[in-house]
Amino acid sequence: MQCHLNGFKPGNLEISDAARVPAEPPPIENLPKEVDVLIVGCGPAGLTMARQLAEFVDIETCIVDLKPGPKLFGQADGISCRTQEIMEAFNCSEILAKETYQLHKNAFWEPDIEHPQYIKRTHKVDGARLALSEFIHGVVNQSRLHDLLLKGMENSVTHLVPHYSRRLVALNVDHSLYNDLSAYPIKASFERNDEKQAGKVETLRARFVVGCDGAEALFVRNYRSLWRVIQRTNPGA
Ligand SMILES: Cc1cc2nc3c(=O)[nH]c(=O)nc-3n(C[C@H](O)[C@H](O)[C@H](O)COP(=O)(O)OP(=O)(O)OC[C@H]3O[C@@H](n4cnc5c(N)ncnc54)[C@H](O)[C@@H]3O)c2cc1C
Repeated sequence: MQCHLNGFKPGNLEISDAARVPAEPPPIENLPKEVDVLIVGCGPAGLTMARQLAEFVDIETCIVDLKPGPKLFGQADGISCRTQEIMEAFNCSEILAKETYQLHKNAFWEPDIEHPQYIKRTHKVDGARLALSEFIHGVVNQSRLHDLLLKGMENSVTHLVPHYSRRLVALNVDHSLYNDLSAYPIKASFERNDEKQAGKVETLRARFVVGCDGAEALFVRNYRSLWRVIQRTNPGA
């Protein structure tokens, strides 16, 4: 388990705090012209999808995010036992279990009615996920989870690395090509936001697109196309 006396310092926690420096973002490469699967968003959802697809040499995947590089500090830190099962499938549950604070018991604190200036511990319960899984609900920095997914992608047979500093600004689907599985009916436009080429618009074509843009939910808000794109995986539906 990791304790962070002076706050969490990103990077590989097997390297001591004093020597550890966060990895540089990968250099900006041109986007591919055509891919089988485009994933928008390098949060946990996008990276998990990319980590899985990276194992398939015959599927060309591209994952894009508007941020300049990997997340250094996450907003989330609670990790479900089910998520750890997924990480087991990605062959990195041991390191995660080693670094995770394991929630064997949970304590609940509430206002103390007799002494309103204090709070008091009211009860303790066993880990909420006990017996649900071989793993235990735990606490680990979200960026560390991202690190493990990114490392797995890079070390996979396809050496998949995200393209950063690109914001998805438009998504067009050629519906006439919907049922042609060899076609690339999706045209995605990205605007660069790095210092060198800010504002430059790049496009790529994809056979499938997966919206993992989180709460910004550009897909759902602006395009109503998410369900159509998903529907494309099952054209008969
Ligand atoms: C304060 C806080 C605490 C939380 N604590 C926990 C916790 O303890 N445990 C837990 O499981 N969950 C927690 N959550 C929830 C968890 O963070 C989210 O459920 C999770 O991050 C969602 O993952 P996601 O991949 O769907 O989206 P996100 O993590 O939001 O990732 C979306 C990605 O898409 C990118 N993006 C957005 N729009 C575009 C665009 N137009 N073009 C390109 N890229 C784009 C963003 O830059 C981002 O990297 C917490 C959330 C918050 C806010």
